[in-house]
Amino acid sequence: MKTFRIGGVHPAENKLSASSPIREAALPKQAVFSMFQHIGAPAVPVVKKGDAVKVGTLLGEAGGFVSAPIYSSVSGKVSKVDVALDASDTRRMAVYVDVEGDEWEESIDRSTDLVKLADRPDLDAKTIVEKIKQAGIVGMGGATFPTHVKLCPPPGQKAECVIINAVECEPYLTADHRLMLEKADEILVGVQLLMKAVAVEKGYVGIENNKPDAIVLMKKKAEKYPNIEIVPLKVKYPQGGEKQLIDAVIGRQVPAPPAIPINVGAVVQNVGTAFAVYEAVMKNKPLISRVITVTGKSVKQPSNLMARLGTPFQQLIDECGGLPEDTGKVIGGGPMMGKALISLDIPMTKGSSGLLIMNDKEARRTAPQPCIRCAKCVSACPMGLEPFLLATASSQHMWETTEKNNITSCIECGSCAFTCPSHRPLLDMIRLGKTTVMGIIKARAAANAPKK
Ligand code: SF4
Ligand code: SF4
Repeated sequence: MKTFRIGGVHPAENKLSASSPIREAALPKQAVFSMFQHIGAPAVPVVKKGDAVKVGTLLGEAGGFVSAPIYSSVSGKVSKVDVALDASDTRRMAVYVDVEGDEWEESIDRSTDLVKLADRPDLDAKTIVEKIKQAGIVGMGGATFPTHVKLCPPPGQKAECVIINAVECEPYLTADHRLMLEKADEILVGVQLLMKAVAVEKGYVGIENNKPDAIVLMKKKAEKYPNIEIVPLKVKYPQGGEKQLIDAVIGRQVPAPPAIPINVGAVVQNVGTAFAVYEAVMKNKPLISRVITVTGKSVKQPSNLMARLGTPFQQLIDECGGLPEDTGKVIGGGPMMGKALISLDIPMTKGSSGLLIMNDKEARRTAPQPCIRCAKCVSACPMGLEPFLLATASSQHMWETTEKNNITSCIECGSCAFTCPSHRPLLDMIRLGKTTVMGIIKARAAANAPKK
């Protein structure tokens, strides 16, 4: 069975919510919409205090090409436009809406009837990309890169295939798994739309073989969708990384940055994104909700919730039995790449794939010991880096050394820290170095840019 070639680890899967069907989360009393739910320029608010909004009303317009608009997921009144804390521990501009009823914009088709590609011969590539852009679709696997940008390859580059990331390699998370079981046809139409948008004849859906039910169902459904191949993959973390997935599925290796997947002919999109694309193009529905896994060993009812964006995390946890008494920390995302949350008032955004509640015991960090030079971190690194060296150089602020040793190639997967027998906080140290070096590279480019 296929997988990627370099490095990788096998954390315990703990997919506690895999058999919990997706259920609708209750509406919040107040929804808070950060204008910064994507990579790129923040959205710019277009509403003010006192404005009445419906589900699907535009709240913030895109702040540039690499940006995405934000729509209301609720109906009610704008109570303020002010800063709000988000999952990155930063206060950013947000629109607060006090919820009244559940009134939707009439332009949104709320029926569950499947619209097939053949039903819409009017859709050409340009129209599809424009609809995706207008709907505010971003990468839903957590990367939150605006989808329309990925569908517009730079001059001279040509896509050869679309690869759908249905790997969900983060332990605990099951939102994508459930989505495939419950919305297979919608996802496959979404893949067709993405293929048409970049004019390719071939689409792949990569699924790890710890989801055999999803593989069987998707294979059966895909028989009716020509040129879409379901590719079962051996379980290995971080197979959901773009570069790892491309290697696993089509056997091509993306060179170091600045190279990107399109340089090897691939456009990678998450399976949740494919579903959102279907809803945007075929149902005229902007990105206003998503599936989020709420889970943890002490959680009463580990669940997959279809929740409206802007809902506070606390409410989602309450819907799954409340915060357990032995909670050590709550992670936004999965245990490998997620980040601890400092408040549960933080609202859900387009990139919120999971809430993991760790108990005291799991949350406790073992005291780091000196490096014993075992090189396990090197064997685990899927990017072929030397994590022990990058971490040491970062902690000593040796930025030139970290840059020379390709710290910017790090995908922050945490495989190195996971595997280290000395429990060294490698990822924390490398993240610090990577952020600093990226800042240095940006400043250097700005200084060297020709003066206008
Ligand atoms: S976090 Fe970075 S350095 Fe560590 S294993 Fe992943 S890619 Fe390699
Ligand atoms: S795995 Fe840990 S102990 Fe081993 S070389 Fe890497 S940093 Fe050192």
